[in-house]
Amino acid sequence: MNHVKIDQEFMLHFMENLINIPSPVGYYVKVSKFMVDSLTQLGYEPWVDNKGNIYVRVAGQNKEKTVGIVAHLDTLGLMVRKINADGSLKIVDIGGINYHSIEGESVVIHTRDNGEYTGVVCCNSHSLHVFKDAATLERTSENMHIMIDEKVSCAEDVQKLGIRVGDHISVNPRFTVTKSGFIKSRFIDDKGGVAAVVATLKALKDHNLVPSNNVLFMFSQYEEVGYGGASVPDGMEELVAVDIASVGPDNAGTEFDVSICTKDAITVYDVPLVDKLVKLAQEHHLGFQTDICTGGGTDASQAVRAGNNLRVAAIGLGTYSSHAMERTHVEAMENTSKLLLAYCCG
Ligand SMILES: [Zn+2]
Repeated sequence: MNHVKIDQEFMLHFMENLINIPSPVGYYVKVSKFMVDSLTQLGYEPWVDNKGNIYVRVAGQNKEKTVGIVAHLDTLGLMVRKINADGSLKIVDIGGINYHSIEGESVVIHTRDNGEYTGVVCCNSHSLHVFKDAATLERTSENMHIMIDEKVSCAEDVQKLGIRVGDHISVNPRFTVTKSGFIKSRFIDDKGGVAAVVATLKALKDHNLVPSNNVLFMFSQYEEVGYGGASVPDGMEELVAVDIASVGPDNAGTEFDVSICTKDAITVYDVPLVDKLVKLAQEHHLGFQTDICTGGGTDASQAVRAGNNLRVAAIGLGTYSSHAMERTHVEAMENTSKLLLAYCCG
């Protein structure tokens, strides 16, 4: 196992492609197709359930036990709240976006008939030359709007474009990898996690590895609104969520390590399973930290909250500035992917 390599180039390229496909919560058709195609190309047989969750089953040596690994495909985003009389758009956020981080950013408005229009996110007090409170007005959905990049001056002009209340709006992710290995992008949450999981799936194929137990890989939707992992197929005994791990003054996690979460805002994770993950990380000399994630939940904690009878754990890549312009390092992704591989085969 220690000789097994994660294909870093593949992982980053896959992550970039995935991040560039908009998937604000509920807007899942395009990202689902990309995932199904990618997993099929890797030699797997993915399937999709009613909710848009995607699955891949990998048979293990022990056919009696099935464990799960889950990462979410949905991201934060916006929706058209109202078409304003001046032809701008009032917006509402989906999943808890930090408005400070998207002011001035380009967006795409996705209409019901597959139209796409670009626009820009503005504060209502958008110019220091015009508004005394341009620097101080609180950045909230009430105080922000979108200017569509079309010649529109009234609500009727906007309606003629096919834009309606309730249309999804995706935010330009700005994916970049630096020479020093930092990944700067929106939606590293959780497309960085998904890329780490898919890199693990590729490593299993590349090295002809057979997991110890059956492993059901899940790629969920609706995690950012609280129920991504809520429905879990029958027969699963444990579930490990892969998501970003917060980095902050009270967090042990770093942008280079995989964090092994012991508690989040919803649950305390299963002690024997956490112990096992810590032991595997030590045995494989991975950069890791145990940590507490106070700011939210994961697919795994959502799964147990929904009533599934599972042992749960959560691991993830340390990520700076979560739910804003995020940053992590390729080492954190590699440590995450290697820990998953060890979990499958350990
Ligand atoms: Zn997440």
